[in-house]
Amino acid sequence: MTSREELEAQLDATRRQLEGLTAEVARNDEIMRRAQMRELHLLQAESLDGLIRALIDGLRTSYGVDYVSLVICDPGHDIRHLLLANGTPPDKFPDLLIVESIAGLAPQYIALQQPWLGAFAACDHQLICPGAGEARSIAMIPLTHRGKLLGSINLCSNDLLRFTQVHASDFLAHMGVIASFCIENVVNRARLLRSGFTDMLTGWHNRRYLTVRINEELARARRDRTRLVCLMLDIDHFKRVNDTWGHAAGDAVLQELAQRIESQVRASDVAARYGGEEFVVLLPRTDVFAASKLAERIRTAVAAEPVALPNGESVTITASIGIAEVSPGADDTDLKTLGDSLIARADVALYAAKSAGRDQVVVEAA
Ligand code: GH3
Ligand code: MG
Ligand code: MG
Repeated sequence: MTSREELEAQLDATRRQLEGLTAEVARNDEIMRRAQMRELHLLQAESLDGLIRALIDGLRTSYGVDYVSLVICDPGHDIRHLLLANGTPPDKFPDLLIVESIAGLAPQYIALQQPWLGAFAACDHQLICPGAGEARSIAMIPLTHRGKLLGSINLCSNDLLRFTQVHASDFLAHMGVIASFCIENVVNRARLLRSGFTDMLTGWHNRRYLTVRINEELARARRDRTRLVCLMLDIDHFKRVNDTWGHAAGDAVLQELAQRIESQVRASDVAARYGGEEFVVLLPRTDVFAASKLAERIRTAVAAEPVALPNGESVTITASIGIAEVSPGADDTDLKTLGDSLIARADVALYAAKSAGRDQVVVEAA
């Protein structure tokens, strides 16, 4: 070969190399763009169930893999309860596994600091990927919080060579960090939302929750053609407790009474702290006769034993209860007004109980 031919061949090789590099840069750009889109999609999820869908269905489509499962460790049953409270029970997501402990799920979990890529082995991975079917390779991406393993996202492919131990996993690791952050974030948001419905002193639901639930219960009563009864309870002369022993004693009385009332109501009843020393219980599918028997039981439970105060003394407390009922008809469309009037009528009956001497139950006049 002449030196000119040599030079041309060299030039050719350099050109091909350059073309290859340009193509690789374009590919990387595309990979980067897709990764950013994917992460943006996760960050935009507003609710826990939206995020779970984005992680399971969204990532399956975006990575073009055959199957995705999500494992979340939830020792306090917090995440499960939040899903339940939001009306999306965990079993609605067959590829979501909520477990109490990570240990023993897959051998790779023991040291899962970085994504683990490799061959899918049914004995190791079936448990965390129950619907993986014909999977041949798997990428297990750890979800962590402050260095602690919280679970994993598992991408499965029917292609043996899709995930191997020689593949780079930086992009996957980054996605895992974003996903962990998103889970933490929506769980906190869901908790906050729920705490907006909870009374901090008694742990009961608050008035805001009652307002939402009364509408639902009225709609249900209208559909099922049943009645809804409302009990309103107010502690008698509660101001005296505060005035005599101070607010801490008053708080202790409220907490104890909330427990005594709660011990009498059914799980299907809706109990809420309506205001300072007023409690409301909604009784679905009940008539005033059964409701007044329950109200008597509550009244008795409240007064049965003196309440112990923080200073060691104790005080006997009584309560008055008003009862009203409604059976919504098909033409009752304004449930908000119907709910307000049900509570107002129970309040009128309560006032009658107070006027008649307190420590008693009054059913609204028909
Ligand atoms: P009645 O038998 O007519 O119901 O008299 P009462 O003293 O119970 O009623 P009143 O409405 O005069 O007083 C209620 C008191 O409840 C006044 C308020 O300071 C107190 N209260 C409301 N919320 C709380 C609370 O969270 N903790 C404490 N310690 N007191 C509270
Ligand atoms: Mg009151
Ligand atoms: Mg009172």
